[in-house]
Amino acid sequence: MSVGISILGATGSIGASTLDVIERHPDRFRCVAASARGDVDGMLAICQRHRPDLVAMVDADAAARLSTLLREHSIPTEVVPGEAGLLAVAEHPSAEQVMAAIVGAAGLLPTLAAARQGKRVLLANKESLVMSGALLMDAIEAGGAELLPIDSEHNAIFQCLPGGFRCGLAPTGVEEILLTASGGPFLDTPLDQLTDMSPDAACAHPNWVMGRKISVDSATMMNKGLEVIEAAWLFGLPAGRIRVIVHPQSVVHSMVRMADGSVLAQLGEPDMRTPIVYGMAWPERLDGGVRSLDLVAAGPLEFRDPDLERFPCLRLAGEALVAGGAAPLVLNAANEVAVDAFLRGAVRFTEIPEVIDASLSRAGSEASPDSIDAILAMDGEIRRFAGEFIGNREGRRRHA
Ligand code: NAD
Ligand code: MG
Repeated sequence: MSVGISILGATGSIGASTLDVIERHPDRFRCVAASARGDVDGMLAICQRHRPDLVAMVDADAAARLSTLLREHSIPTEVVPGEAGLLAVAEHPSAEQVMAAIVGAAGLLPTLAAARQGKRVLLANKESLVMSGALLMDAIEAGGAELLPIDSEHNAIFQCLPGGFRCGLAPTGVEEILLTASGGPFLDTPLDQLTDMSPDAACAHPNWVMGRKISVDSATMMNKGLEVIEAAWLFGLPAGRIRVIVHPQSVVHSMVRMADGSVLAQLGEPDMRTPIVYGMAWPERLDGGVRSLDLVAAGPLEFRDPDLERFPCLRLAGEALVAGGAAPLVLNAANEVAVDAFLRGAVRFTEIPEVIDASLSRAGSEASPDSIDAILAMDGEIRRFAGEFIGNREGRRRHA
């Protein structure tokens, strides 16, 4: 019997890599359900190849168009529109595993639903853990779910930890986690040129091909900041025991320093199919189609400390983790608004951290909301504030 997998965010970069791994092992895995926001052509292609039982389209018009096309092609896949569709995908009874690969806060509710249903949650959507780490980890525990990190760094760390380790427990014998970061496309760009960097330049990552939001996050290093917070939840360690190291070649995907002085690392090609197939097959190992790493061809490997002046987003994220309470939630919401505005040309690259800083200052040291409704309310409030902050800026610029 093959393992049923639901893919949240199936039309994205992680979704495509997951479907590729499934296609390589048709005897082992089957895509039973999939979701997208509004990409009708992308979802039609998925339905043609994988014949899932059910798909969700958040956009209602897109859902109607997809239904018509599926009828024309005589494909019996059911289409469920809206947020209800996302939950139906996450909770699909034939799915033992759920790939959580929606980008941003929109992934939170379906990821929580999968956790409550006791699925194996393959977590790519780091934003859900940053927004509501306590709630998600509790839901995993209460639902009897399994949580396997798909983010390459966290997957690398998971691979380096002792065999019995489960996410959410503090690992024994671990002194420090060394989270590697490529530094993105602007690692060595002269500082005075950063202001005018375009969205396309920010999305031109030297090593990884990814969706646009995470690509901008990599350019600001907010991605690494979110990952530090993600690591704190997954591995039960405080901020002081998670260190970021810039490693421009992206060959070492992260490391763990043990009490006895050993440093364990996981290395590989920068290809998300490695952590994806690892999570799907765990505790077994399968081929995910990834080229084998040639260390001689990879050339010298460098490691440096991050420059927090160049990357203020990384500093803000570290401060938010230490501050605790609602700070990580505020950081994430403001970042999503700022990145979206940057991609639309409404703010400059160097204004992204300014929007986040202003949002963090406004929210002060509020306690962490303890229910999903309170989290979503606060997320909405910060989004409104950040949006207005950006609007006021644009207004001032027009009048200048
Ligand atoms: P992407 O932009 O390529 O794809 C995003 C997917 O989410 C699409 O299927 C899209 O339809 C869906 N989506 C977008 N907005 C939505 C909404 N409001 N409601 C429902 N669905 C929505 O993104 P990606 O690069 O695949 O990243 C997905 C997640 O995985 C992100 O959280 C990212 O941080 C994480 N991640 C990605 C990579 C990578 O290599 N791409 C690596 C590590 C972690
Ligand atoms: Mg990562």
